[in-house]
Amino acid sequence: MTDGYGRKIEYLRISVTDACNLRCTYCMPENGMKSCPCKSAMGADEFIEIATAAAELGMRKLRITGGEPLVRGDILELTRALGGIKGVEDISMTTNATLLAPVAEDLYKAGIHRINISLDTLDPIKYEQITRGGKLTSALEGLRAAIYAGMEPVKINTVLIGGFNDMEIGLLAELTVAYPIELRFIELMPIGDTGVFTASAYIPNSTVLQRLPGLVPVESEPHSVARLYKMPHAQGRIGLISPLSNHFCAECNRLRLTADGCLKPCLHSAEEIPVRGLHGDALKAAILTAVSHKPQMHVELSATERSESKRSMYRIGG
Ligand code: SAM
Ligand code: SF4
Repeated sequence: MTDGYGRKIEYLRISVTDACNLRCTYCMPENGMKSCPCKSAMGADEFIEIATAAAELGMRKLRITGGEPLVRGDILELTRALGGIKGVEDISMTTNATLLAPVAEDLYKAGIHRINISLDTLDPIKYEQITRGGKLTSALEGLRAAIYAGMEPVKINTVLIGGFNDMEIGLLAELTVAYPIELRFIELMPIGDTGVFTASAYIPNSTVLQRLPGLVPVESEPHSVARLYKMPHAQGRIGLISPLSNHFCAECNRLRLTADGCLKPCLHSAEEIPVRGLHGDALKAAILTAVSHKPQMHVELSATERSESKRSMYRIGG
């Protein structure tokens, strides 16, 4: 599928649940989920039907996200089924990893060989603060379990928040010396009704380059949203994902499917195309509509210019 701007759309991000065992302040309201119109996430059969139709139209890459995908009781079966869809060449997951350690090997066997783990701090007290109750030790156990299970690449997503973790940039970067991982610093996005931050929390990724002057640029993968660097002597790499200071819309090759069955042509636009309950040609027509409605680029984002998305991130999946 090609959109109106000549971009080949072959990557579907699937949020399999709005629920999460954590409550990160920039992502989810303190009291958890607001009820969504359909009240609950779709069943495995519904995700599989939509992903199969998308694959028949040319989707080649799937990413399972949430909420927290590992809170779903059927996540192994769902993963196996999604990865087994004809035409799907790559399946991956984004997780907070706190529930990962006991299931990492099973998840690997179910087809997840590439994983992104969210980790914003190496300080256990700050981890508990930003996640509203999470345990850093559980996330680190999950990280190690992913590596030991053979997942490759293992990427860490770190949302950079001025005054919260910018003083840890060097420490977090050291993880790429200890482990063969890709550590990606992501600019904090003003999206949804969660996370009230002062303007100073929104810092550009150029701060990372200032704090780590020894970083050497390395070649990025095609369609990667991250600009990649390496520290001398490190096993892993550092990525900068800069939706505010340097958006990557020209490289966008994705659609997002929400847990309640809507396709989002763009992360930061309000438009959603409902696909739940559609079948056959009607379902495929809705997927093609979502592709054709992809805007050339998203709105400007800054501390004062918020995303136009009606959903917070836990209801989209990142
Ligand atoms: N629960 C899983 C996790 O945390 O990895 C998957 C879902 S989470 C919504 C996906 C990604 O979105 C995470 O890496 C998270 O840090 C990121 N995210 C959430 N809210 C964000 C925001 N306001 N700005 C930037 N990234 C955000
Ligand atoms: Fe949950 Fe992930 Fe959002 Fe944190 S970022 S609240 S772990 S969905």
